[in-house]
Amino acid sequence: MRSIILTITLVIIAFNSFSINDLHSFARPKEAVITHLSLSIAVDMDKQIISGVAKYNIEKSANATQIWFDTKQLNIEKVLLNENEKTNFQLSPERPFLGRGLSVNITPVTKTVSIYYSTTKESAALQWLTPEQTEGKTAPFLFTQGQAILTRTWIPIQDSPGIRISWDAKVKVPPTLLPVMSAQNPKQKNETGEYSFRMVEPVPAYLIALAVGDLHFITLSERTGVYAESDMVGKASDELMEMEQMLISAEKLYGTYQWGRYDVIVLPPSFPFGGMENPRLTFATPTIIAGDRSLISLVAHELAHSWSGNLVTNATWDDFWLNEGFTVYFERRIMESISGKEYADMLAVLGYQDLLETIADLGDTSSATKLKLNLKDKDPDDGMSDIAYEKGYFFLQYLESKLGRTFFDLFLNEYFKTYAFKTITTEEFLGFLNKKFAGKLDPSQIDEWIYKPGLPTTLNKPVSVRFDLVDQELKRFVEQYTKADKLTTKNWSTHEWIRFIRKLPANLPAGKMNELDNTFSFTQSRNAEIQFAWFMQAIQHDYAKADNAIISFLSSVGRRKFVLPLYKALFANSRTAQLAKDTYIKLKPGYHSVTQQSVDEVFSMK
Ligand SMILES: [Zn+2]
Repeated sequence: MRSIILTITLVIIAFNSFSINDLHSFARPKEAVITHLSLSIAVDMDKQIISGVAKYNIEKSANATQIWFDTKQLNIEKVLLNENEKTNFQLSPERPFLGRGLSVNITPVTKTVSIYYSTTKESAALQWLTPEQTEGKTAPFLFTQGQAILTRTWIPIQDSPGIRISWDAKVKVPPTLLPVMSAQNPKQKNETGEYSFRMVEPVPAYLIALAVGDLHFITLSERTGVYAESDMVGKASDELMEMEQMLISAEKLYGTYQWGRYDVIVLPPSFPFGGMENPRLTFATPTIIAGDRSLISLVAHELAHSWSGNLVTNATWDDFWLNEGFTVYFERRIMESISGKEYADMLAVLGYQDLLETIADLGDTSSATKLKLNLKDKDPDDGMSDIAYEKGYFFLQYLESKLGRTFFDLFLNEYFKTYAFKTITTEEFLGFLNKKFAGKLDPSQIDEWIYKPGLPTTLNKPVSVRFDLVDQELKRFVEQYTKADKLTTKNWSTHEWIRFIRKLPANLPAGKMNELDNTFSFTQSRNAEIQFAWFMQAIQHDYAKADNAIISFLSSVGRRKFVLPLYKALFANSRTAQLAKDTYIKLKPGYHSVTQQSVDEVFSMK
């Protein structure tokens, strides 16, 4: 009896939590909602198609006659109820960004819905790489990118961050390849090419991910490790040696890691992002493998998402800052505990500079610079700017400064406990904050941070003593005619070099650019962050000597953060505008659809 009462209570709670309307999903969770996915798929690397069946356990209201799914760029073959009963289904007309709603007729006794489907050439979440496009150049590769609303292009699903499901999968691949997912993973290949996966914790659809390739695994500690192609896995394991230490630091700050293992897969260079926080298995760009562990704050960021984003998830994409602002704040706290305050201060100052540039770019009265977004009729991908990341970070930093670090940390611990495995809106967060700190915070200041555009008046401008030293050296070079090889740059980190390069004055003469390059070999750098900062300056200073290196960089890296601004800058310079366009047309097929979509806009190719 007790268990029955309990079940009824749980169902009521589940349905109550769907009071929020997600404008980016066709799902109607108040009527019928998925609770568990059993995915059974085959991955055809030659035809570049995934096909199989997605079987869902569902919960529904008493009078529900339909259940709605999100689909895009998929072929739906048939739908069965309770595994063997045929049923009718309809696909709604295609809508921009969102794809097509799939409504399935259900009956009062429907427990499961099985959708038989296959992906298409257009399925945007999937990037299929030929052997030539990989690091090892011998085997093909596939990876998925679900965020924000792309999971629906490889699995028919209720693709809303507000809907969480547990899931399991059976995946068949060619026996020479290894598949891994955001789940419990195999460590080595088997002869059958058939693998099983399980994610017992409920996650939103955008966190379901798959990669297939000639992957190898290296253990770093009892609960951390790294997957990559054989040519990369050794380098990657050296670079990521400190992952266990990061995990311990993170747990000391905000509580126990809830996902079991924490592994990283280093993907081929066309991965469009720095990293993607897929649970248990962060997907990462190879551009963080600098050889000197200088760019691992990116891993701290993805790890921090194991709390902010994956454990406590933004209810809709309008609340995206709850995922990213918290994560940047947490990332900098992890880096502070590992590498010290001066190090974390450098990250904050670079972030501040990014924020100023983004606000200048969007316009300081633009609604896109508000923390709480309004993405109605927009692609949620458009909301993924530095505003969510850096303005979000500085808001939390403001709260820390008002409340004191001790109290703010206690608050964050309670926040992660209270909302674990749940979704949350900005307004629920503000309610929670107000409940804990009523009277201690000025509501008009909070309101300015969340709902007003531009830079808030109460932002604490970050300072960095290490950057002050960099600025002194730059002054000596620019104003006092000290030769580049006489500057004090010993032991500078990547961040100090980025500061130095970014601050070069716009009117620096060609001879000085040349002198810097001859002394510090920026054009020949193998560090992607330094290359990018230098190339942006080279384009602005019309430093033609870097042209070839820029084109070569664009042909080997697909990370949007680098590729998009470089094309923009090249296209804005009359000397290189045509070169930019020709290069993009040639390289476009090698970029992920996420990167393509953004760069297309630069050349008005949409
Ligand atoms: Zn993030």
